[in-house]
Order: sequence, then structure tokens, then C-alpha cells
Amino acid sequence: MKTLKIAIQKSGRLNEKSVEILKNCGLSFENYKSSLISTVTNFPLEILFLRDDDIPEYVQDGIADLGIVGENVITEVNADVTYLQKLGFGKCTLKIAVPNESEITDVSGLEGKAIATSYPVILQKYLDDNNVNAVVRTISGSVEIGPGLGLSDAICDIVSTGGTLKSNGLKPFGEVMKSEAVLIASKGMELNEDVIELLQRIRSVLLAKETKYVVLNVAKSNLEKVVSLLPGVKSPTIVPLFEEDWVAVHSVIAEQDFWEKINSLKAAGAEGIVVMPIEKIIS
Ligand code: ATP
Ligand code: MG
Repeated sequence: MKTLKIAIQKSGRLNEKSVEILKNCGLSFENYKSSLISTVTNFPLEILFLRDDDIPEYVQDGIADLGIVGENVITEVNADVTYLQKLGFGKCTLKIAVPNESEITDVSGLEGKAIATSYPVILQKYLDDNNVNAVVRTISGSVEIGPGLGLSDAICDIVSTGGTLKSNGLKPFGEVMKSEAVLIASKGMELNEDVIELLQRIRSVLLAKETKYVVLNVAKSNLEKVVSLLPGVKSPTIVPLFEEDWVAVHSVIAEQDFWEKINSLKAAGAEGIVVMPIEKIIS
């Protein structure tokens, strides 16, 4: 069968996590910083290392069958690709920002103003959706210096922590777009057997990351109360302890309701709670 190609970012914010998720899927490959292509030795797959801007079009045109890239980049170039899976990293938001002293406080205040951005297509759609006419100035980087240089009244750029904006005397408002890294495929490739296999592996890695393996001890008299708080993969495993009338309970819980669960488990009589990471969950 044909060897698939997956395009990932060569260097930058998405590179490390993209490599990590592929390695966690059990794929073996060399990750030399200098190479542009790497062959996976235990799966029919080649990895192409590219600028993130080029990934959506490579996938759209079928030069790569799969890609890992930010949704913001895909939307900006309007790529015609299949979205397979959100990957939970590279999370950021495209926002409008204005100088701290600006009187502009919301999107309607942008009427007639100039906005600098590297995302002209996404910004124009946001302005159109809000019935605002503004001048969009496209620049390829360092957008945050636009107002200081007199190039624009506002900017539209990616914000994750807000630190860059703050250090440039800018304050954000408006949520133009939320984004995270996604796995995309060329149209039709979602039916390919190897793509399906790889997608299943990625999903099991993501699922494992969202859950924890919990072991705790409890007196039999409190067992029912504790078990009712633990919706395991099917049902929790109960193992007898050497100490009579006590058991160990093994279960899996979602990372997100972790702290809430731990406190209610303690209140219900759970002791010696041990929480462990899970590598993979195959369902
Ligand atoms: P390349 O050299 O591949 O073109 P780049 O400089 O365009 O890289 P990066 O800065 O590495 O891109 O960002 C890649 C992606 O990471 C962005 O498109 C976005 O989806 C995501 N991202 C997450 N947080 C941020 C952030 N704080 N700033 C910029 N991008 C972010
Ligand atoms: Mg780029």
C-alpha cells in the first residue's frame, strides 16, 4: 500500500507537540532538526517538516495526505480539507487590540480605522459580520508595533497569555477566532485504512491524556458510597487488602473533574489515594 505523508511544522510553537503526539502513537522516526523529511520505520508514513503556512495547501493539493496545523492558518487560506481531530495544543485566540490610551473599546469603534494584521481574510470576515468598514493593513509579522509606528489604530493578532500585547502598551478586546492545532486530511483520505488506523491511535492517546488512573483504599462499610462516585471505564476493580474489611478500588476518572472528585472521595471515606497517568486507552 502507498506510503502516507503527514506535514507538520518544522520549527515553532507546534513542532514539539506534533512530534510528541506521533511518537506517543508508537511511531518510530528520526527527528533531526536539519531534515525536511523523515521516514517512519514501523508504519507506512513519511513526515514532512514544513513552514506552518504551507501545510493547508500541501494537504489540499494532496502533496501531503495529512497535516497538523493551527485552525487559524487553515481558515486564513480557506483550504478545502477534511478536519479529522482537534489535538488540544497550540490553543490561542485572535483578538483585536488597541493602544492603552485609545478611546476605541469595542468592534463598532473600529469604523473607518486602520487595523494591522497577518490574518486579513479572517479579520475581514469578522468586520463584515459586525457591519464595520475599516482599512485592513496586511503585514507578515511584528504586528504589535503597528500602532506605535502610526501604521494603524488597532491590530488583530494571536493572543495566548496577553504578555506580548501588554509589553507593547496594547489592550485586547473582541474574540475574532479561537484556534488550536488540528489533524487534517486531503479530501477522501479519511477513508484510507492507514489514515483510519493512525486516527484511532491519536484518539486513544488524547483520551488517555484526559484521564487518570486512580487507586484508593476504603473500608468495606464505605465502599458503596465511594464506588458511586467513580464511573470507571466499565466498573471499578475491587481488590481485597490484607487488612480485613478493607479493599483497594482501581478506577479511571476524567482529568477535568479530578479535584472535585478527589475531595468528595475523601469525604466518603477513601484513603491513600494514588493518581497515575495513563499512556493509552484502547476502546
Ligand atoms: P513558521 O515558521 O512555521 O511559519 P510561525 O512563526 O508562523 O512559524 P508560530 O509562532 O510557531 O508560527 O505559531 C504556530 C501556530 O501556533 C500559530 O499559527 C497558532 O495556531 C499557534 N499559537 C498558539 N499560541 C500562539 C501564540 N501565543 N502566538 C502565536 N501563535 C500561537
Ligand atoms: Mg507561519
